[in-house]
Amino acid sequence: MCRHLAYLGPPVNLRELLFDPPYSLLRQSWSPRDMRGGGTINADGFGIGWYPGDGDPVRYRRAQPIWSDPTIAQLAAVTSAGAVLAAVRSATVGMAVLDNAAAPFAEGRWLFSHNGVVRGWPDSMVPLASGLPVRDLLTLDAATDSALLWALVRHRLRAGVDPARAVAETVAAVAAAAPGSRLNLLLTDGRTVAASVAGHALSIRTTPRSVLLASEPHDDEPGWREVPDGHLVTGTATEVRVRAIGEV
Ligand code: GLN
Repeated sequence: MCRHLAYLGPPVNLRELLFDPPYSLLRQSWSPRDMRGGGTINADGFGIGWYPGDGDPVRYRRAQPIWSDPTIAQLAAVTSAGAVLAAVRSATVGMAVLDNAAAPFAEGRWLFSHNGVVRGWPDSMVPLASGLPVRDLLTLDAATDSALLWALVRHRLRAGVDPARAVAETVAAVAAAAPGSRLNLLLTDGRTVAASVAGHALSIRTTPRSVLLASEPHDDEPGWREVPDGHLVTGTATEVRVRAIGEV
């Protein structure tokens, strides 16, 4: 099941963030330490979104293992950013393996990722999907559960719902419609982050000036905290809050 991470803080080199740590996202693509929920490797695609200065994010995503793309390793080595969202994908059985099915999903300043699965896909999502504008359904990135989850979150964001609520409401609605789903969502606009923990692991590490959220710690250094299941992490580079999803 996919692995994802988000970083906010002083600019960091993407190679140092994603490739160099002993249990980096690169390593997690072929040898993850925690694959509860099935799967053994995350080789069905990857994506990296980063914010160059104050502009909208740049995104690079491919439907191939991150280790097999020499371009991204070179690009990462010469790129630094103060906000990053990245993911490696293990496609749920039956779901398309395409560039567009890899996170991050994006619109404007937003970047989004999903680690997990929607049970009963696609039938369980018919009632929720039917509440979306037809245009959104016709332009889904891919016919996958993760792309629909993004459309559900984005619909709330477009309506002016704040990001923490958009994530919490989506998790609650999908969990009610499709019990047993795994719904670790991750959303950033480059300044704030919101992440749900619902069925998969998520760890955070903070410094006074940065926050790093990751499906699994990328090293054995002290400072990582595992977020309990059923919780939502919100925050900025300098301030992080963890609440029960129902309290948001
Ligand atoms: N259901 C997601 C997909 O197929 C899987 C993401 C994951 O956590 N493996 O894209």
